[in-house]
Amino acid sequence: MRNLNNPITYINGMSVQRATLLYTELGIKTCHDLLHFFPFRYIDKTQFYQINQLQPNSAEVQIVGKITQLKTVAQTKGSRLVATFHDATGIMELVWFKGQKWIKDVLKINEPYVIYGKLNHFNGLYSMPHPEMQLVSEYKKTLQSTMQPVYSSTEKLVNAGISNKIIRTYIENLFKQFYGGIQETLSLEIINEFQLISKKEALLNVHFPKSHELLAKAQFRLKFEELFFIQLQLVRKNLINKTNIKGIVFKNVGAAFNDFYEHHLPFQLTNAQKRVIKEIRKDVASGIHMNRLLQGDVGSGKTIVALLTMLFAIDNGFQATLMAPTEILANQHFNAISELLKGVNISVELLTGSTKPKKRKVIHEALEDGSLKILVGTHALLEEKVMFDNLGIAIIDEQHRFGVAQRSKLWMKNRKSLPFGEVGGASLPPHILVMTATPIPRTLAMSVYGDLDISVIDELPPGRKETKTVHRFDSQRLSVLKFMKDEIAKGRQVYIVYPLIEESKVLDYKDLMDGFDGLSREFPMPQYQISIVHGQMKAEKKDFEMQRFVKGETQIMVATTVIEVGVNVPNASVMIIESAERFGLSQLHQLRGRVGRGADQSYCILMTGVKLSDEAKTRIKTMVSTSDGFKIAEVDLKLRGPGNLMGTQQSGVLNLKIANILKDSKILIAARKKAIELLSKDPNLSKEENALIKIAFTEMTKTSKIWSQIS
Ligand code: ADP
Ligand code: MG
Repeated sequence: MRNLNNPITYINGMSVQRATLLYTELGIKTCHDLLHFFPFRYIDKTQFYQINQLQPNSAEVQIVGKITQLKTVAQTKGSRLVATFHDATGIMELVWFKGQKWIKDVLKINEPYVIYGKLNHFNGLYSMPHPEMQLVSEYKKTLQSTMQPVYSSTEKLVNAGISNKIIRTYIENLFKQFYGGIQETLSLEIINEFQLISKKEALLNVHFPKSHELLAKAQFRLKFEELFFIQLQLVRKNLINKTNIKGIVFKNVGAAFNDFYEHHLPFQLTNAQKRVIKEIRKDVASGIHMNRLLQGDVGSGKTIVALLTMLFAIDNGFQATLMAPTEILANQHFNAISELLKGVNISVELLTGSTKPKKRKVIHEALEDGSLKILVGTHALLEEKVMFDNLGIAIIDEQHRFGVAQRSKLWMKNRKSLPFGEVGGASLPPHILVMTATPIPRTLAMSVYGDLDISVIDELPPGRKETKTVHRFDSQRLSVLKFMKDEIAKGRQVYIVYPLIEESKVLDYKDLMDGFDGLSREFPMPQYQISIVHGQMKAEKKDFEMQRFVKGETQIMVATTVIEVGVNVPNASVMIIESAERFGLSQLHQLRGRVGRGADQSYCILMTGVKLSDEAKTRIKTMVSTSDGFKIAEVDLKLRGPGNLMGTQQSGVLNLKIANILKDSKILIAARKKAIELLSKDPNLSKEENALIKIAFTEMTKTSKIWSQIS
């Protein structure tokens, strides 16, 4: 009877039509759904403002005062009614565009009114369009001392007359009819530990807050609960994966690893690199399939970690592959790894879209007979024809360009592949290591990839100098050119990057070419040599131009963002980004990461026009003030919202009802910790004291979309 799973038509006054609309528009089907449809803000009628306290960004405010004057002002289309409104502290205006005649008749001059509404601020004067108004004498009779909830709505709902007031009435009725049916969902232990109010009290106060204090407690309780149950699912899924998916075991650290480590390592590893290698080693030796995300800022040295990981695989009789998102990057990885393995007897090949058929054939054969140990490539290596003898590990660089589907293709790459789950060498899927230089804020990673393990290289190799970053306007170009000349005279090299305009390849190309022509006049041959690389060039030509720059034959590299990822030229010390306002933060950070790779002081110059949007200003300011990739990612997240961050689009995890990933990260961390602790003590939630959690959890997993959306 008092079952909250009843459809909302059980609520007094709810018609079938309205119930249907609430379902199609807001997805509200059951009484439980409506109870968990939380207000997104509150009208705070417990507070009064004085005019001199108003702030330009005040949202809705309530003020007591008198109208002293009324006038009709003509405007381009029709007219508006303007009232001058006073209180003891100041003056403001009330404005009406509609219903002017009627309003003019009912308004009383010099009588005290309570007005309520949204503020505008213009030329130092506040105004309130179409305020809600009540004479103080009437207001006192209906005095409401509570905060009123405001629910999000849609046009269809509004047109069908389902106003906020109506929703409030339904929820009120719901409480009257079903209050007894609201169940606690957390254990006494958790409630005590975090000093939470009960579920009933929390729901009541989130919809109808009795005070600011109780509202805060209600919100805290509901946020904690929401995040806790999500983490419970993620952590549990992780545990199940770990117990169910067996992994290839790399038992030995053998000749390949040891020989390389002792005789060929070109530098001392940083502590962070050592730690990450240990974490990986532990995983691949555990007998459980590794699914690990390696985060490390640009230049933090992920390549060497990748190589050492591949050597583990080889020592244990397996092959390894490293996959990159672009041909240029795959090339660089191939060159870097070949260079590192000089004098070591391990075969490495490169497979990309431009590998010649003859060469391809040789590679395919060597892969299948197991003689080829390391294959570096682009997504060309996902093609069906490419089969390994026994692939032990697949490393993916810059994961945001690969979809989940592509990643899963890697799982089927072994010649002797058997269906999953069967035991025996090559029947198991290769371990997966995903490397990314675009750091996801830790809290976000936790909630999105709660089922992935994460390693972080949080330390740059020693001796790196922070890249000095400045913002220059186009009008300051002359001094920028002078600066370039000075740097080149010192033997340095310079990148100049133009934005890629997706919608207009033609315009894009023109910008780049105009820039190139201008530079050619400023930096004439033979004294200066300029490379140019852009998306419309053939791979061979691109590579040729890149190589000229890598070898130091050219001093300037003019390019579109094709160089964004991975290019490594330690002698390049200046990065000039044209129309920097058109780049996203993470892209700017990636580009800046192309310099500062050698021992010299490096510079990044962000060129922009004078007109900048607020968001562009924030991006530029952030770049100038910090080089910390995690901080930059946090700002990026704030600017763009989690939905736009890579990898999170498909994830239902972020459809939070009340918690906010950014603002509530402390609660998230606490909730996750508690979820881990709980599951480690009671993996199946079978203990008596966790009975309530189990009921809520089971209910939630029945309806939740998290499972299908994450995996
Ligand atoms: P990323 O993490 O951006 O892929 P790389 O692996 O390309 O970084 O490394 C950047 C540069 O730093 C390379 O030139 C590499 O040789 C160098 N490097 C990496 N690790 C170290 C270290 N521990 N000490 C000194 N130089 C290092
Ligand atoms: Mg790299």
